[in-house]
Amino acid sequence: MATVKDQNKMEVLPVKREHYSLIIGGERVESVSGETYTTYNPATGEAVATVAKASIEDAERAVQAARQAFDKGKWKRFPVGKRARVINKIASIMRSRFNELVELEVLDSGKSVSAAQGQVMQAIEDFEFYAGAIVGHRGNVNNMPGPFFNYTQKEPVGVCAQIIPWNYPLMMAAWKIAPAIAAGCTVILKPASLTPLTAIVLTEICHEAGVPEGVVNVLPGSGSKIGNYLVEHPHVDKVAFTGSTPIGKDIMAKASQTLKRVTLELGGKSPNIVFDDADVDAAVDGSLFGIFYNTGQSCEARSRLYVHEDIYEEFMEKFVEKTKRLKLGNTLDAGTHVGAIISQDQLETIDGYVQSAIQDGATVLAGGKPAKVEGYENGYWYEPTVIADVNHDMKVVREEIFGPVVVVMKFKDEREVLGLANDSEYGLGSAVWTKDHARATRVANEIRAGIVMVNTPFSAFPGTPFGGYKQSGFGRELCIETLDLYTETKSVLSYFGPKPLNPFGL
Ligand code: NAD
Ligand code: MN
Repeated sequence: MATVKDQNKMEVLPVKREHYSLIIGGERVESVSGETYTTYNPATGEAVATVAKASIEDAERAVQAARQAFDKGKWKRFPVGKRARVINKIASIMRSRFNELVELEVLDSGKSVSAAQGQVMQAIEDFEFYAGAIVGHRGNVNNMPGPFFNYTQKEPVGVCAQIIPWNYPLMMAAWKIAPAIAAGCTVILKPASLTPLTAIVLTEICHEAGVPEGVVNVLPGSGSKIGNYLVEHPHVDKVAFTGSTPIGKDIMAKASQTLKRVTLELGGKSPNIVFDDADVDAAVDGSLFGIFYNTGQSCEARSRLYVHEDIYEEFMEKFVEKTKRLKLGNTLDAGTHVGAIISQDQLETIDGYVQSAIQDGATVLAGGKPAKVEGYENGYWYEPTVIADVNHDMKVVREEIFGPVVVVMKFKDEREVLGLANDSEYGLGSAVWTKDHARATRVANEIRAGIVMVNTPFSAFPGTPFGGYKQSGFGRELCIETLDLYTETKSVLSYFGPKPLNPFGL
């Protein structure tokens, strides 16, 4: 006979379907306001599904559910091994629905299937990583003078509002949820309104795997309304935000009113440095991937390319030729390299940057305009674009474009290029291509960025810290240290001397 608990268990629905609900307190619910909206496939302009649109009342319900689950619930009290088992189960359910998750991600975001496959796989491995990492996460015993004993313990920070962008919808959800629930926190996830579907399905999978009700809640809806409400709410203990730098600043200011713990993963304008002693072909292929992967809609996109003057001609000839050969089109085809742009707005923003460069006197070596892709006339597409003859004051060199646009500059020597690379408000990624190990190490030391890629276009795997310097934000994700950002350290000091303490001597 089914118990009440079993009856309340969320029914498992197909990954791809016509409608997606909010998840609050372990239940699929519609918005109190009754509002829904439609998500579209940016590659085709076609509707993908309808989604419940969270209202402020829903956000309040979610905060209460997450608060209750944290204060009174059993999740943080589970033996750590049991928490790890549930988190591993999330990963194994995701693995069993890998193809469906990839397809839904492609449809909702317009990215290419090859990009989505890597991201969904990484999302799965993130859960596996934190299931393992949490088991070894622990406090210390500290040496004390005299008859005192001090130990520290790691306790979950509490209710976490997690706000994520549209460029890696499932992977960002995993980067946020996995360490938080591993640490014993409860979560309210606010996906980007343009791409909420896979984050909703992931939340459903969390429940299927045995995460108790209220531990993971998901609220698709407006950032300025729902996101803001969560950031200001006194019962939310922490905000973890990934998104643009201006919104990150706004969130930090607002979170200060309640002194929430804050981590911010923000924008970037990452330099990619190719020295004359590099393997030129490897550098060309890696630089191509470094900017055009995920259609350049990547916080760590290497969007400033610096090439040593002695190999500039050879490098650029190959780089431009290959840029022109990148395939746009059917996003579900494994041979497609570059997917769609997320929205018409973003397409116009990108084109505005390219036009400003042309007005400033730069030269477009490839691309430079919205792309006409046969069969995809209603989608948002931009030609992979290479811009040369720029100087360091131009908008295209200084600002994050967040699209398939790279600016290229020549340099003479190591000192000059380090100055240029560091001449940015941002400090997220950076890459260096050289066969000289000492040079690579010197550059890695001098670059003011959270991530340095040496002879590789790949920036992160589960276990490698990801995050920025300067206005790219602070806090590191994807790594062991992330667990410290989802925990508080409690210090317990006890006296074990034979005589009572009487410090006033009265
Ligand atoms: P965005 O800042 O516009 O939105 C991010 C999220 O914040 C969305 O869920 C949005 O709804 C929400 N939001 C918007 N206004 C808000 C407000 N006032 N209060 C609270 N929440 C609000 O960014 P985007 O356009 O979705 O994503 C692109 C940006 O994200 C780029 O700048 C990119 O570099 C950055 N990004 C950074 C990383 C990283 O790890 N550093 C990763 C991916 C993307
Ligand atoms: Mn969409």
